[in-house]
Amino acid sequence: MSRVVEQMDKLIAECEELRDVALRQANDAITVLNELGYRYRLVQDQSNDAETNSNLSRKPRADQDCPVCGYQTDPPHDRRSHRSQTIKAPFTEAELVAKGLKRLSPKTE
Ligand SMILES: [Zn+2]
Repeated sequence: MSRVVEQMDKLIAECEELRDVALRQANDAITVLNELGYRYRLVQDQSNDAETNSNLSRKPRADQDCPVCGYQTDPPHDRRSHRSQTIKAPFTEAELVAKGLKRLSPKTE
C-alpha cells in the first residue's frame, strides 16, 4: 500500500528486533546472577499489553471512541480512518453509511 504504511512496518520490525536484543542481554544478565547463587527471573509487565499490542497491530480499539468523532462505531475505527480528510472532522451520517460503519455511542454535544 502506501509508503507510510511500509515505513511503519519497517520501524515496528526494527523495534521488535531491538527488544529481542535487549531481552537477550537481560536474560544473559539474569543467567549470570543465577549462576552466582541469586534467584532472579525476568518478568514482563502485562499491564500495558493491550495498548502495546493494539499499537503494533494498528487496529482500532473496540472500546475506545474515535478521537476525531468522539464516538465508537461498529466495526471500530480510529484517527487513521480520517486520513483522507484534509481537515479532520467527525464523520457525517452519510460518510458512516458509505464506510459501512454503525455509530454506537452518541456524540456528546
Ligand atoms: Zn472517527
